[in-house]
Amino acid sequence: MDQFERLGQLPLRDDLRGLHPYGAPQLDVPILLNVNENTFGVPADAKEAILAAVAAELEGLNRYPDREFTTLRQELAAYLGHGLNEDNLWAANGSNEVLQQILQAFGGPGRTAMGFPPTYSMYPLLASGTGTGYIAGLRDQDYSLSAASAAEQVSAAAPNIVFLCSPNNPTGTALGLEVVEAVYEAGEASRCIVIVDEAYAEFAHTGTPSALSLLEGRPRLVVSRTMSKAFALAGARLGYLAAAPEVADALRLVRLPYHLSAITQATAVAALRTSTSLLANVEAIKVQRDRIVTELTNLGLTPAPSDSNFVFFGGLENPHAVWEALLAEGVLIRDVGIPGHLRVTAGTEAETTAFLSGLRAILAS
Ligand code: PMP
Repeated sequence: MDQFERLGQLPLRDDLRGLHPYGAPQLDVPILLNVNENTFGVPADAKEAILAAVAAELEGLNRYPDREFTTLRQELAAYLGHGLNEDNLWAANGSNEVLQQILQAFGGPGRTAMGFPPTYSMYPLLASGTGTGYIAGLRDQDYSLSAASAAEQVSAAAPNIVFLCSPNNPTGTALGLEVVEAVYEAGEASRCIVIVDEAYAEFAHTGTPSALSLLEGRPRLVVSRTMSKAFALAGARLGYLAAAPEVADALRLVRLPYHLSAITQATAVAALRTSTSLLANVEAIKVQRDRIVTELTNLGLTPAPSDSNFVFFGGLENPHAVWEALLAEGVLIRDVGIPGHLRVTAGTEAETTAFLSGLRAILAS
């Protein structure tokens, strides 16, 4: 009996039968460019600040942490700017948990969430986990999404929640704010919560506006962010959102008590207080991202323009064979299951060189 047959014998919810868990491979290879992490380590001064902050928490570790994580919300508001204060902020263990809480509060049985694939693969999984129906919207042939098309689809489907991912994973491209505005208006009739997932916002080209600038006067708009990417803290698990204060109040109804540990809160606060140093590598990553786009174009491939820390590229006859050949060279990238395409995270200069020279050799062989 295999794992799935054994699972089938349990009284699992019918809507979870046959589903597969999120499963980007976690392999022990030298060059990991598959899950859009920041491959630069945490800088020494940030490490010291985090260590001291965590050490200071040990004294009170017998007590539950601040359920309201007030200091952390204040620090996050100060980081985001845009006139936001702690009442506009909410956080959880990774933005995945933030998104899950939104679905718990605003989705659920009899309700629907809509996304525009190819997009972040967790949206349908978070929907199924919370018993929310998932509606897959359509993009243009080149994977772009215009304001008119998105608004028309949202009007027609009348979902309770819409996910707009900008910059979008896996394509890397940012959405214009006019798309967010149009979707928000189109969602008026169904009182739709519009989530703009800006997990990769810090890597956008200079001048790319954030949906944070649209929050004023839009109580159904939510902008989610994470410390997993630009802040190089994927292992610490801290995601957050900015929205009207009543959105945070809604999430207080579904969060588990004390969901953010004292260690997590101390780590995130210390990181935000050393953000200049933590974010210093963002520019270096953008340089490698742009280098990948240029060099892949020179190789005759078709990389999408990227505002994130990864590049989605097409023009491959057999992407899975290329993925395997790179893995054999110790370079793990991501096969997102889209014909002709692969996705690679921009790493350090040396990691990027290893990826590019490995790929060049594979394509020439
Ligand atoms: N949104 C997007 C678009 C992502 O790509 C990811 C991580 N890959 C997340 C959210 C979740 O990140 P985390 O839970 O680490 O904050």
